[in-house]
Amino acid sequence: MKATCWMGTRNVQVESVPDPAILNASDAIVRITSTAICGSDLHLYNGFIPSMKRGDVLGHEFMGEVVEVGKGVQHLSVGDRVVVPFPIACGHCAQCEREMYSLCENTNPNAWMAEKLWGYSPCGIYGYSHMLGGYAGGQAEYARVPFADVNPMKVPEELDDEQVLFLSDIFPTGYMAAEACGIQPGDTIAVWGCGPVGMFAIKSAYMLGAERVIAIDRFAYRLRMARERAGAETLDYAEVDIYEALEEMTGGRGPDHCIDCVGLEGHAPGIHGAYDKVKTTLMMETDRPVALRQAILACRSGGTISVAGVYGGFIDKFPMGAVVNRALTIKSGQTHVQRYMRPLLKRIQDGEIDPSFVVTHRMTLEDAAAGYEMFAKKEDECLKVVLKP
Ligand SMILES: [Zn+2]
Ligand SMILES: [Zn+2]
Repeated sequence: MKATCWMGTRNVQVESVPDPAILNASDAIVRITSTAICGSDLHLYNGFIPSMKRGDVLGHEFMGEVVEVGKGVQHLSVGDRVVVPFPIACGHCAQCEREMYSLCENTNPNAWMAEKLWGYSPCGIYGYSHMLGGYAGGQAEYARVPFADVNPMKVPEELDDEQVLFLSDIFPTGYMAAEACGIQPGDTIAVWGCGPVGMFAIKSAYMLGAERVIAIDRFAYRLRMARERAGAETLDYAEVDIYEALEEMTGGRGPDHCIDCVGLEGHAPGIHGAYDKVKTTLMMETDRPVALRQAILACRSGGTISVAGVYGGFIDKFPMGAVVNRALTIKSGQTHVQRYMRPLLKRIQDGEIDPSFVVTHRMTLEDAAAGYEMFAKKEDECLKVVLKP
């Protein structure tokens, strides 16, 4: 089959690889009809995530048709149309029973690698390094889906692929980030990053009762999309001092809650941005937490900093004094997608949201390399690329 392979930093190629096969009785094989490039795939592309190997198949946002099931699969059949959540969960360990699916204790065969960096391991994730299981991803013609009775969700025929594909990751991810803020009616929420997850965080904050959402980015087209497609007010951090602008917009108090949808490759003008750039280049710091620092300093006292952006390792100049002295709460986590898929599908069916609003580019799988490059360089007003095998 054809698959999108990581061949080194900023080098992605569509290669011929062996078809996936059933390895365990609980597996299914899915023929992929739509898959997407995620912002977090860019961290792999740019070489920020350790333990990638040349030839690894990328992709953790995918959906398609079940073409084969293992002997133990009871709730899925050949021909079912499914969307697949990016965290691989077993469904019966202590974490899965708490619905903390991205912390599943059974699906990362390379848990020891993650334990060295993080203390304990989260779940395995498709196409996201050997440290997170070494699973082949879904930017391909077929994928093996473990624990097929637990993970994929059947989707109704009347919804097209682009309306349900993002239940695999970015819609639940934006939603969980907003939910973590405990939004009360009338609240003002600030969102760093107007990529696809940022868009869903903005929409979700409104769905959960926010009165105002202020979105922060530096690309004019992404700020425009945040205004036009998601209804946010916007700030360009290259043009204004974000702390001062937010203070002024919120009666001198700061936004009630702040959501970081940027993660480890943040940019910033001035001394802090330069500091992180030097430190990460010299491998003295793994992540550039500029959005996170800003969010902590800007948030209203007593508010929540919800972190949806991906961080991989260690950060410097973390303003812990602000967290302690102003009673801030920090919430984060890889998304427990399985917990949100059904309720969010209902919101789509009820017409509350059509997730396809983020799609700007549709390409064939063969063009995946061009899609990565365009998304990474923010060319052609690229927000979200859907690939069709
Ligand atoms: Zn993703
Ligand atoms: Zn589990």
